Parts: sequence; C-alpha cells; structure tokens
Amino acid sequence: MSPVELRRRLEFYRDLGIKTMYRREAQVEATTQPSPEPLLEPQFEPEPQPAMELPGLAPESDTLFKILEDIGDCKRCRLHTGRNKIVFGAGDEHAKLVFVGEGPGADEDAQGFPFVGRAGQLLTQMIENTASKEGIPILRKDVYICNVVKCRPPENRTPEPDEMEICGQFLFRQLSAIRPKAICALGGTASRALLGRTEGVTRMRGNWQKWNGIPVMVTYHPSYLLRPYNQNAKREAWEDLKKVLHMVYD
Ligand code: SF4
Repeated sequence: MSPVELRRRLEFYRDLGIKTMYRREAQVEATTQPSPEPLLEPQFEPEPQPAMELPGLAPESDTLFKILEDIGDCKRCRLHTGRNKIVFGAGDEHAKLVFVGEGPGADEDAQGFPFVGRAGQLLTQMIENTASKEGIPILRKDVYICNVVKCRPPENRTPEPDEMEICGQFLFRQLSAIRPKAICALGGTASRALLGRTEGVTRMRGNWQKWNGIPVMVTYHPSYLLRPYNQNAKREAWEDLKKVLHMVYD
C-alpha cells in the first residue's frame, strides 16, 4: 500500500472512532479497557431476555478495528444487495455513552457514516444543545453512534428479524468492546434488538433498563421527532437525554 493510500486508510479509521490498531499476531497483547466507574443507582426495570443470543465470538480483547475487519465486505444477510457503503459506526472508541439507531438511510449509505442526514443533524443538536444547557462539556464526537444493521434496508424499511439477528452480533461486539457507562436506544428497532421488548417507545421511554449489565435508556428516534406533529415527543426525548447525560457525566 502506498503512503498516500495508507494515510487515507488511517484517516478513514480515525473518523470511525478507531484510534488503536493491532496486528493480528499481536492480539494477545491488546490492552484492556479501564473498569467502568461506579454507576449512580437509578431505578432499573427488571433485565429482560435480549432479543438475540449474545454471540460467542466476542473475545476479551475485542476491538472496533477487529470487528470492522470481521465485517469485511459482508454478505451475511440480504441487505448487502442494495447497499453502497457499510455504515459501521462513528465516534470515540472509549465513549462513556453510545447511541444505537436502526439502520443507515440514503445519506448514511452514500457517505458510510451514521446519522449524517437530517435526523443526524437533529441528533447532533440534541446531544450538543442539551449538554451545553446542562453544563456538561461534551460534543457529538465524544460519544459513539451506530446502528442495529450496518447496511441500508431498501426503501428505508424496518430491518427484518433475521437481518437484526445476523447483524446484531456486530452491534453486540461493538457495545462489549466499548463497554460504555450507558446506552441510548433510539427507537423501537434498537430497543427490540437490545432488550427484546416489543412495546412502543412511548411506553418504554424514560425508564432505565439494562443490556448485559449496562444501563439502557430508550427514547424516540430523531427521524420520528422530525415529523411536525410530534412536539410532545420532542420534549420527552429532551427529558430522556438530560437524564442520560447526567447519569453518565455527573
Ligand atoms: S446488514 Fe450487517 S449482516 Fe447484513 S450484509 Fe450488512 S453488515 Fe452484513
């Protein structure tokens, strides 16, 4: 690989939030992440059965880079047929907070990064404005953002259960590798994938659940909030986000 190609590749990985890379043969020496700080003790609902089995392929030293390598030019489910780019995720690989959406839309599919369209701009505003109002010094780049499925479903349809199950293994590995202090599930697909819950977001939002021991807050997907009649939902989403930010960064 030429120096120019190498530099481009490194910049691409940096944008995905990958700052640490390991050679395959050096994996045994991969660093372990610091243990998470003790959590405040919010009220949790009982931990439900996850919708999908946790994969057996998330080794102790798993990293975002290894997961990206394992995805490769993935054709494990039918969604590969219509995609332009796999949308892996973006942000800080050591983030204390991870946002999980449903799947890439047209803008994300074209650019290869999550939440870059209108819904993404709203999510950025929600994170940065709420943090700023609450006196919490974080920007979007300080969190990690990814989706349940990494390829765009045709016509932006909801991912099918088998697609969620197959691609969900990569989401679970991402979450296990980052091990954030909290996860914010954006919309029903993310809450189904993480919590196995089929109730609507309106019923689930506002209360802490857990995925694999990590606190999860379900709230509305930003694309739902873009609809003009959803003023109440917007206010509720801001409330949920405030709760999440204080729990993670106070
Ligand atoms: S959606 Fe996930 S499992 Fe399906 S092809 Fe894309 S990367 Fe692979």
